[in-house]
Amino acid sequence: MSAASSTQVSPLTDLAGVGPALAEKLHKLGIYRVSDLLFLLPLRYEDRTQLVKLGTLRAGQRCLVSGEVLLAETVYRGRRSLLVRMSDGTGQLTLRFFHFSRSQQAQFQPGVAVSCFGEARKGPAGLEMIHPEYRILRPTSNAATTDALTPVYPATEGVQQGRLRNLTDQALKRMQQAPPDELLPPEILRKLNMPPLAEAIAYLHRPPPDANLEQLLQGRHPCQQRLAFEELLAHYLSLKNLRALTASETAPALTAGARESEDFLARLPFELTDAQRRVTGEIEADLAQPHPMMRLIQGDVGSGKTVVAAIACVRAIANGVQAAIMAPTELLAEQHWRSFSAWFQPLGIEPAWLSGSQRTVARRESLAAIATGSAKLIVGTHALFQQGVSFQKLGLVIIDEQHRFGVHQRMALRDKGRDEHGQPHQLVMTATPIPRTLAMAAYADLDVSTIDELPPGRQPVVTVAIPETRRAEIIARVRTACAAGGQAYWVCPLIEESELLDYQAAEASYAMLNEALPEVRVGLVHGRMRSAEKEQGMRAFKEGLIQLLVATTVVEVGVDVPNASLMIIENAERMGLSQLHQLRGRVGRGATQSHCVLVYKPPLGQLAKSRLAVLRESNDGFLVAERDLELRGPGELLGTRQTGLPEYRVADLVRDAKLMPQVQMAAAVIQRQAPATATAIIRRWLADADRYGKV
Ligand code: ADP
Ligand code: MG
Repeated sequence: MSAASSTQVSPLTDLAGVGPALAEKLHKLGIYRVSDLLFLLPLRYEDRTQLVKLGTLRAGQRCLVSGEVLLAETVYRGRRSLLVRMSDGTGQLTLRFFHFSRSQQAQFQPGVAVSCFGEARKGPAGLEMIHPEYRILRPTSNAATTDALTPVYPATEGVQQGRLRNLTDQALKRMQQAPPDELLPPEILRKLNMPPLAEAIAYLHRPPPDANLEQLLQGRHPCQQRLAFEELLAHYLSLKNLRALTASETAPALTAGARESEDFLARLPFELTDAQRRVTGEIEADLAQPHPMMRLIQGDVGSGKTVVAAIACVRAIANGVQAAIMAPTELLAEQHWRSFSAWFQPLGIEPAWLSGSQRTVARRESLAAIATGSAKLIVGTHALFQQGVSFQKLGLVIIDEQHRFGVHQRMALRDKGRDEHGQPHQLVMTATPIPRTLAMAAYADLDVSTIDELPPGRQPVVTVAIPETRRAEIIARVRTACAAGGQAYWVCPLIEESELLDYQAAEASYAMLNEALPEVRVGLVHGRMRSAEKEQGMRAFKEGLIQLLVATTVVEVGVDVPNASLMIIENAERMGLSQLHQLRGRVGRGATQSHCVLVYKPPLGQLAKSRLAVLRESNDGFLVAERDLELRGPGELLGTRQTGLPEYRVADLVRDAKLMPQVQMAAAVIQRQAPATATAIIRRWLADADRYGKV
């Protein structure tokens, strides 16, 4: 901080009216210094710059009105309430209070002038306002119009809006003397055509009456974009710092193994696609470095990420270090375990297995093999990074469907492999391709490789949407597909937040289908089953013993049964597009033409219609993700809750993703010309966020 802004670091108690108690409450809002108040931006604005005539007032309008009290009365219809009838000569309005004191009641004498702010709504006797903010006007004073739009700040317990306005007033006044440092280089501001920081802050706290309210409410005003830009930049720079920090650490340089990986490739029943070959090359180049790889493989469902990961394992093992693969569910981990067993056993390498539901004896055996190093390749769930697991020499960590894990879980596994010689290489994989701009923000600490090609011979899945009222038709399709030797999935309604209800719905569908299709062998897999049962069901399906697999969304990721060519998804209108695309990716893996039926509950709204249309029209995961992002938001796209994505104060990743190319450009300029500025930007926006410090 420069000397000029020293008043900005002054404590809150410097402000008039702030004692220790209030300061404590403000701390809960993340406000510690006077300058923090400047970055506490209003959530919305109210227009009190004009008085609205009662004659023109409409229901739903939030505005300022004034008039003379005609009558005040307490009524006891249902609930005791105070009704105040007022008029301004053009029309009348009723104020309705459910909580009021005797003195309040006494204020509203007929003839007294009042102004009030609130939302008008239809009442039993014309328009009314319930619990408006109001003021009794003295004969000499005018109605309380303001010169600027009135900001509404994020609520905090025990700090009223009026108090927050007063405090921000004081902070803004101080800002005129000592503005916060302008951290964006002038050339960048000029190029982006953005207002200077102090100007943007002043505007957003007290917008003039002619401000574009619509734009402000959407967060698209240039002043908001100015702050969003700096915030995105701060996050981006901090992730880049993290990246640089990792790059400066040491890792085993895995240079040997070229012959082994050639042997491995020669044994595969297929040739790698060009995209797989390119990404493999990128990974091998990383692994040969004496610094940890931090690479993300993005690839649509079925693009063949697993085999690329396996080649990385071949390299690691050839160099005498261990490789561990972690998947988010037992089912997926088991599938990897089977693939890896098939690939590695002929080479004399037996993968070890580790999961939460494992029996004690088997677990103890695995742990011993992992610790002594007799297990070179370890496949498992998050049990891999839990206590009691100790690796002999972990050199490569692979995480599948990484968006299902939090950043911290990823770091925990890495730390398992950290020793005095450095840390393991990391490869993370995701089948949820995200738009390039969003990837820039979310994965700035990773190098990204994209497998943008499907193995040859895949036919796009033909997708249709059918209302559930035509269920008989859908069942007939299943019958036909199974009679022709094909297999089908039936994914049951998704019931939010309840595994129990999910499971009951699956049971019901299972019973219904068993009855409707007596000639078809029907199986059931759901999240409540023990993993052995689940595996049994999946294996029976894979081996063709089961023709129709009824399942909850547990089959969503990764499951691979090439003979399955029909996917039925119930309640499709309630799922995210990317999730539907994932589910659909379970079919279309063999040579026959596959179909996906999206079953919905009519009537469909306009938005739901256009969402399902995206899937009917495209098989491209990137395009689906792009549309999903527009229609839902990044939390949904990246998997809720556990995205590991930081929270933003001003920026909105969906709305502002388009700023990312410029953020990237600005970051490069700042890092080159003024590294100290980069630190100051990070500190301004992320000073109190410890997550970056920890990871
Ligand atoms: P995902 O990228 O969704 O994880 P997988 O790795 O499960 O995809 O691969 C899907 C299927 O494609 C598997 O059966 C795998 O063996 C097969 N596969 C992978 N690469 C190729 C290829 N180059 N040619 C033919 N089949 C391939
Ligand atoms: Mg996969």
